[in-house]
Amino acid sequence: MQILVVNNGSSSIKYQLYRMSDRQVLAKGTVERVGNSSSFLKHQDPTGETITITQVIPDHKHGMKLVLDYLTDPQYGAIQSMNEITAIGHRVVHGGELFKESTLIDDNVIEGIQAVSQLAPLHNPHNLTGIKVCTELIPEKPQVAVFDTVFHQTMDASAFMYALPYRYYQDYKIRKYGFHGTSHKYVSQRAAELMGKSLSELKLITCHLGNGASITAVKNGKSVDTSMGFTPLEGLMMGTRCGDLDPAIIPYLLKTEKIDPASLDRIMNYESGLYGISGLSNDLRDIEKAAAEGNQRAQLALDMYIHRIRKYIGSYLFILGGADAIVFTAGVGENQSNIRQKICADLQWLNIHIDQESNQIRSEEKCISTKDSSIEVWVIPTNEELMIAEETANLIAETALA
Ligand code: AMP
Repeated sequence: MQILVVNNGSSSIKYQLYRMSDRQVLAKGTVERVGNSSSFLKHQDPTGETITITQVIPDHKHGMKLVLDYLTDPQYGAIQSMNEITAIGHRVVHGGELFKESTLIDDNVIEGIQAVSQLAPLHNPHNLTGIKVCTELIPEKPQVAVFDTVFHQTMDASAFMYALPYRYYQDYKIRKYGFHGTSHKYVSQRAAELMGKSLSELKLITCHLGNGASITAVKNGKSVDTSMGFTPLEGLMMGTRCGDLDPAIIPYLLKTEKIDPASLDRIMNYESGLYGISGLSNDLRDIEKAAAEGNQRAQLALDMYIHRIRKYIGSYLFILGGADAIVFTAGVGENQSNIRQKICADLQWLNIHIDQESNQIRSEEKCISTKDSSIEVWVIPTNEELMIAEETANLIAETALA
């Protein structure tokens, strides 16, 4: 079975073609700057060679058509025709409360995704475009929507409600949804496999630390709480996002700075976080380097970043009643050993011990705690595309059996 995974953004299309028997990526690539005169396709063929095709790609339909042409290209392709593909799995950011699992796409599902688009106006409309374009170009192939929010739909109302008047939940569906669900689910499953235990008996704290970052408390394979909220702005301090704030700061700033809500929204999403505090960069590698060279604001940004992560891990330990493992993933979690070390520092009282040598790895599946650590600490590179391919394959197999 071969599955094409598609992640359609505002001006990009990311794709990976999976052979499911051995979970191999046969080909992958990105179309970038769709709608711009400098648009191009970067395509990696089955030998690993990458080619760049620069041409005007006016819209997503032309972009997707180019992707399909290269996937079936006699020289650079991975398949002879689209008949060799079983299904297409789409990343969809927001499923609202409507979608509680990955779903085979039909007209009702498209309407549903449209209906929840107001909750993710920067993402869902583009995900939908990807679905519509594939329907047009390859109508005979089944398509599956895999939502970032679905994994967190298991949260109890006590965790997902905000203490606002109840009618805001009823009228506007204002509640915590959580994001990065596909990543948290993937690393939870891998953690159980690597630990040789059943996911249904584990308590895990999964830390997706990338430019966007979130932490999830996972009990028996189910998300019970997560740091992101109604939008991906809540929770941890991120590359350019502020994370948790006293909400009273918002009206205060609107009044004193005399700015409009859209500007403040932009400031909180794009001008805050590591970048906002350091004034230097949203990239934690730059922040670490500047802090080591004595830059005080970089040091402050680093200290705040670590403090917030430790605060969430601590609260999730309490909510879960302990944990079997803490898992680090995404750019920072997979690569930055110093950050992992700082997050797990001084936890001897919890009997968490990091093995300094094991912790020196990058982007590798490894237990980085010592054998006598009560809570295991793992690094597990995330693979959201593989998770989408697996969800798609499973759903297609189930449908065929039904
Ligand atoms: P992500 O959003 O998952 O791509 O993560 C981006 C963050 O990961 C940045 O803040 C980087 O500082 C950090 N990072 C550290 N090492 C690497 C690496 N080798 N490749 C990519 N990102 C890295």
